[in-house]
Amino acid sequence: MHLDKAIINKTEQLQSSLIVGDDDGGKLFTPEEYEEYKRRVLPLRMKNRLYVSFGVPGGIDCKQIGPETQCFCEHRYKQHQTEFEVIPSERPIALQCKVSGCRCSSYNYIPQPGCAMVRCKCKHLPQDHSEAAGHLCKKCKVCSGFQSPYTCGCGRPSFEHRTLVETKQERLARGQPVGKDVPYAAMGGLTGFTSLLDGYLALQVLSEGNSCCFFI
Ligand SMILES: [Zn+2]
Ligand SMILES: [Zn+2]
Ligand SMILES: [Zn+2]
Ligand SMILES: [Zn+2]
Ligand SMILES: [Zn+2]
Repeated sequence: MHLDKAIINKTEQLQSSLIVGDDDGGKLFTPEEYEEYKRRVLPLRMKNRLYVSFGVPGGIDCKQIGPETQCFCEHRYKQHQTEFEVIPSERPIALQCKVSGCRCSSYNYIPQPGCAMVRCKCKHLPQDHSEAAGHLCKKCKVCSGFQSPYTCGCGRPSFEHRTLVETKQERLARGQPVGKDVPYAAMGGLTGFTSLLDGYLALQVLSEGNSCCFFI
């Protein structure tokens, strides 16, 4: 059946793009390069997986960060350093943005409720602030660093939250789910294939519709 084959091809394509993430630099790997990549990267990825979530310290996780989730710097999680050969010993673990010219020193999630851009207490937009650590405002002098007045679904103000990067052991010690070991790149805090698929479906809906929202 033609249709079955098309679905299998599509699934394989999706799967390999999830495995490679941004590591092919936008050019597709040849089948040999792909096999070599999997041999080299996957064992390390399964061992050194980092989990990324957003929440109030000591509280529940309000959001799991996935490959397409936007950072304060406007780049996606998968565009940041999401893997280490050796996990750094210092905490917090800084996941630097890999996009050239971007000064973001660590992945930092900012919730964007609905389509309205969240403004800082200084009234300026996130992009008016520096993407470098501290997130100082480039348009005014009163701002001491981006602070969103938005109240999260958990009832606490956005600025009490932090983006947490943790190892599997650290996550287990907090009693949080780690899911199954998966070969996919930049999974962040996603622990089930369902949530990943949901994210991609949402992305598709967003990019097909004329929505002004561009975050997941
Ligand atoms: Zn960036
Ligand atoms: Zn960033
Ligand atoms: Zn400002
Ligand atoms: Zn500000
Ligand atoms: Zn919250």
